[in-house]
Amino acid sequence: MLFRNVKKNTRTYCTTCNFKIIRQSVKKLKDAVVGHDPKAAAIIEREENALINIMSWLEKQIQKRKETEAELIRAKEQAEDGARAKSDFLSVMSHEIRTPLNAIIGIAHLLSQDQLLPNQLENLKALNISAENLLRLINDILDFGKIEEGKIVLAEKNICLQQLAENIKTAHHIRAAERGNTINMIIDEKLPQIILGDEVRLGQILHNLMSNAVKFTRNGSITLTISLEKIQGEEATVYFSVTDTGVGIEKEKQVLIFDRFTQASVDIAREFGGSGLGLAIVKQLAALHNSDIYLNSEPGRGSTFFFTINFKTGKQEAPQQQTSNGKNDLSGIKVLLVEDVEFNIMVAKKMITNWNGAVDVAENGAIALNKVRQSAYDIVLMDLQMPVMDGYNATQHIRNFNDDIPIIALTASASADILQRTREFGMTDYLAKPFKPGELYEMISKYSRRTGS
Ligand code: ADP
Repeated sequence: MLFRNVKKNTRTYCTTCNFKIIRQSVKKLKDAVVGHDPKAAAIIEREENALINIMSWLEKQIQKRKETEAELIRAKEQAEDGARAKSDFLSVMSHEIRTPLNAIIGIAHLLSQDQLLPNQLENLKALNISAENLLRLINDILDFGKIEEGKIVLAEKNICLQQLAENIKTAHHIRAAERGNTINMIIDEKLPQIILGDEVRLGQILHNLMSNAVKFTRNGSITLTISLEKIQGEEATVYFSVTDTGVGIEKEKQVLIFDRFTQASVDIAREFGGSGLGLAIVKQLAALHNSDIYLNSEPGRGSTFFFTINFKTGKQEAPQQQTSNGKNDLSGIKVLLVEDVEFNIMVAKKMITNWNGAVDVAENGAIALNKVRQSAYDIVLMDLQMPVMDGYNATQHIRNFNDDIPIIALTASASADILQRTREFGMTDYLAKPFKPGELYEMISKYSRRTGS
């Protein structure tokens, strides 16, 4: 009897207790739902069976969440497709523009070696300047894209700042003189002989600033200053500035001009040309160096653009063996030129024969493969995109039976991973089109002498 009562009581007690717990849980659930979505209160409270209502509300939420997730994934994929299409478009366009540009620049160079009348020389100069402006614009647009996609990685190689400054002065000397400007250089003697950095990208910052300084100054002066701010252990902080006595920039425009496609006024493009991309690239390249660009400027008095960069100090290497004795000479060198664009064949062929080299031409990779099997060449200049067999495949086949012959990729493609790809396929080095005659000479001379000697 006693036992029965206890059992009954316990059961009564448990049922009540369970009921209470369920009620409390449902209330907590309701509060949580309402806390999350106050509008849900009306739906949940209204109906009798709160638990079922909450369940169906939760089901709806899960469904909604799944739909949102799917939408987000779709949007992300669309954005990625868009970015890929943009980058593909840029590299295809750049290839298509660079290919004829290579012929234009090359032919202009060949023409300049003929005896020309003064007005022909004048025309040729205009042709050269326009071709180089076009090339700069294409490079700027591509660089901008690459920097934005985070595809530029800075190299760490020896740089001699004195030499870099000399090169920059030489590059801008003629244009500066044409505009009645002088270029001064203040190079600190305390600077380390060698620093470690990316000469191309650092040079690009300084070239951009110098070319603006020359462009926006008439009958004045441009001063490039490089000085040592501090040196601590193996790290040197170097200060760079480019000062001009030109038109200057109004205060309210001084921040805007660092934005892409922005110029200080609408008249600038008409009077001075340009795309308004230069300083945006300079700013991004400085950021890649963990630095920023600053500007002091006064309209009518001139401008100073300045920045500092931290570099590791490097060690001087033994000077490289000179490959040429001042005069370009490739006598005794046999080059196989693999290229399908007629004008580019004409230009490269003439350049190489002008340097006394011998050239054989293959119009696609398959012909090149046969030629390398049958004859001995000192070097192969290999275009990448060709009909029948492209340059990558041709190189891969050649490497099956010839490991030694230097194969240099010559391409107008601007894709960021091109160097990596050419190496993977067994190419020795890479020269971007359009190339300057000197660059082609250096490349042939560097690699063909190595195997020839
Ligand atoms: P771009 O020179 O192709 O127009 P930039 O981005 O290099 O493009 O320069 C943007 C603008 O900044 C220029 O159009 C010009 O208005 C102004 N600017 C840049 N450098 C100077 C300078 N040294 N003196 C005066 N104005 C300058």
